Amino acid sequence: MEYRALPHGGEKISVIGLGSAGLHNASDAEVERTIDEAVDAGVNHFDFIPSESRPLAAMGRALRRHRADVHVQVHIGALYGSGAYGWTTDAKPAIAEFEQRLTAIGTDYADESEYGKGEAADRMELLCEFERAGIGVSVMKPFAGGQLLDAAQSPFGRVLTRTQCIQYALDKPGVVTVLPGVHDLADLRDLLGYLDATPEERDYSELASMAPQSREARCVYCNHCQPCPSGIQVGLVNKYYDLARVGDELAAEHYRNLEHHAGECVGCGHCDSRCPFGVAQSSRMCEIAAYFGM
Ligand code: SF4
Ligand code: SF4
Repeated sequence: MEYRALPHGGEKISVIGLGSAGLHNASDAEVERTIDEAVDAGVNHFDFIPSESRPLAAMGRALRRHRADVHVQVHIGALYGSGAYGWTTDAKPAIAEFEQRLTAIGTDYADESEYGKGEAADRMELLCEFERAGIGVSVMKPFAGGQLLDAAQSPFGRVLTRTQCIQYALDKPGVVTVLPGVHDLADLRDLLGYLDATPEERDYSELASMAPQSREARCVYCNHCQPCPSGIQVGLVNKYYDLARVGDELAAEHYRNLEHHAGECVGCGHCDSRCPFGVAQSSRMCEIAAYFGM
């Protein structure tokens, strides 16, 4: 395993961490084995926010075996009242749920409890600010919910490898660890292949040659078409839609929690005329509104 030091504190964090959003379909035994094998491989940073509450007990059993050796991040504001991941900004239920979740995973503290979202330009600005302030960043969804691994779903129309995506994220300012979500042991073993990859396999410079591909009429979430008179965050709405269509329940929940939805589009055409990639965004807003029903 490769490690990076937190700028303040100096703790050594594994560059490969583990996300748990996909673990709900694995058996309890597989969940425990996946966490145990990750720790054996040197992983010491975990995101313990699954899409459903079901695997939390098995995750907790595994965590008890390793708690002193690993860092755990959770999301303040996540709610599992229905059994599935939900969200609130109301402090009282958020704090109650946070404490219940710590109990469920058998610990009485989390090492990080933040969740951020935003557009590419905002993220880069924020990352630079974190780097300047000496704050370590953990990156989630480095494969964009699997889209970047599938030419049919990728906004570039071509495939990147897991290793290239991980290296791309690790090269961003302030980043200390990348936490791809895994479904099972096989996913974990695939990820760990990053550690044996050659410099050539980690090289993602072909991204530059993919840029012209983005001229195809696919939204790449750049937000060049803002501002929308209805207050719709066009890039974010499109990103959550694309992720939801490939089965990302968290992204669907984030969409529902946005202040403005595709259903509020008034069809003014501003985004259509502003998009440098030729996306027929006003039509796409109708499609997105129909998908989510809002
Ligand atoms: S519609 Fe075009 S300009 Fe707007 S976010 Fe998508 S790609 Fe960018
Ligand atoms: S067409 Fe819809 S999404 Fe695009 S700018 Fe107008 S209101 Fe906003």
